Amino acid sequence: MADAGVVLSIDQGTTSTRAILFAADGTALATRQKELPQIFPADGWVEHDPEEIWSATVEVCRGALADAGRAAADVAAIGITNQRETTLLWDRRTGKPVHNAIVWQDRRTAPLCRELAAGGHEATIRARTGLVIDPYFSGTKVAWLLDNVDGARAAAERGELAFGTVDCFLLWRLTGGRVHATDATNASRTLLFNIHTQDWDDELLDLLRVPRSLLPRVQDNAGHFGDTDGDLLGGAVRVMGMAGDQQAALVGQACFAPGMIKSTYGTGCFVVLNTGGAAVESRNRLLTTVGYRLDGRVTYALEGSIFIAGAAVQWLRDGLGLVASAPESEGLARAVEGTNGVYLVPAFTGLGAPYWDPDARGAILGLTRDSGIAHVVRAALEAVCYQTRDLMQAMADDAGAAPTALRVDGGMVGNDWLMQFLADILGLPVDRPVVAETTALGAAYLAGMAADLFGGLDDIAARWRRQRDFHPAMEAGRRDGLYAGWRDAVRRVRGDMAA
Ligand code: ADP
Repeated sequence: MADAGVVLSIDQGTTSTRAILFAADGTALATRQKELPQIFPADGWVEHDPEEIWSATVEVCRGALADAGRAAADVAAIGITNQRETTLLWDRRTGKPVHNAIVWQDRRTAPLCRELAAGGHEATIRARTGLVIDPYFSGTKVAWLLDNVDGARAAAERGELAFGTVDCFLLWRLTGGRVHATDATNASRTLLFNIHTQDWDDELLDLLRVPRSLLPRVQDNAGHFGDTDGDLLGGAVRVMGMAGDQQAALVGQACFAPGMIKSTYGTGCFVVLNTGGAAVESRNRLLTTVGYRLDGRVTYALEGSIFIAGAAVQWLRDGLGLVASAPESEGLARAVEGTNGVYLVPAFTGLGAPYWDPDARGAILGLTRDSGIAHVVRAALEAVCYQTRDLMQAMADDAGAAPTALRVDGGMVGNDWLMQFLADILGLPVDRPVVAETTALGAAYLAGMAADLFGGLDDIAARWRRQRDFHPAMEAGRRDGLYAGWRDAVRRVRGDMAA
């Protein structure tokens, strides 16, 4: 039965909603995508319309099935992966959200975060959740909804409301309101979940005044989550896998052994290191998080994020008009031997890990009369590599061992020059896989594993295929000199410009 192996992967991201239908060998049979409108109600606020998320999800799933000429009966399992931390609250009876979804980028809860930090709760929160106090995570967003939506707190106390991240909301809707569940990776980003006990933490729930009755059940990443309503896709389909986007990419990249590391280069960049059964507490302000949980066993990870990666190239294109398209940056970078000492620090919204400096702002340093467009463009690409080295060094320091290779994915990795420079600056081989859609693929693997299409992690690891690898070719002295220049540039944007 050829169709036994078809898995439908739903990838609900920040800017778009996608459905990809995968065959058992990992080939994408059909892809549908729909843009998701961003809502900016106030400075620093970002929302999504839950109904738009939902209707787009149904539309792309139906579209992908139609494009591949498949029916619901052909689909062995559905896997869901999603933008993490984005927060929803809905009425259990009607399924109607009480407010728009508050998106992970939203900063409205900064005052509450400052209060929590001032109250001395940072250490407890870090110890329980692996996270830092920041509006990024869901917990303070739930608190905001309960305090600011008319009647929400009273309804929550009566047990009438449900909280969920996007995965959980989609599962609720797909199952016609029959299942309220999430997975351990999504739960680990809420600020409410104890990553050691794998349960919601009563003390943190009290601290944020979040009633336990709001919360979903937390499941392994691979397993039976529920069945879709028959009329949605023309027949019931089992939802068998779920994971937050960066964790799904970790699975899609088959980083299953401790020490294996992947980096996703899109708008921003997320580096995730598998640390095995050990939840490594970071001394460098990286996040400790759940990599995946299978058969009740947790594999932990360290995570670092760079806020601006591909977005710097977008800025070169749209803000400065230095390139007509993102891929054009490659030719310009190649056209010069180096930047002649020019550094671009893309701290447009502050600096993420390991600096966590919200007040830093971007700068182009080291300009001379010889500096031209190619130098600035090259400096923007180089910055992505230097920032990756910042994170890799922090991770090696925390984990006590240096990774031996880096697996990469995301829109930027098509730039061969960038990949070579990355290998040069890291002094590590950089591996680019055949399937670039690793997030959707990871969700498909999790669902397919639960549906017995794959033998398990070893089987998935054996399916990983290198498209090309890049080996460090730069002389160590040059590498260290360039990196020292970067560190100096970062020092200069961090408030000591006058020094
Ligand atoms: P996201 O999923 O975050 O929307 P993608 O993974 O689709 O992002 O990657 C798109 C980003 O990659 C854009 O910011 C774009 O500027 C950048 N990008 C795409 N192709 C290249 C390239 N050849 N060189 C440099 N940057 C690129």
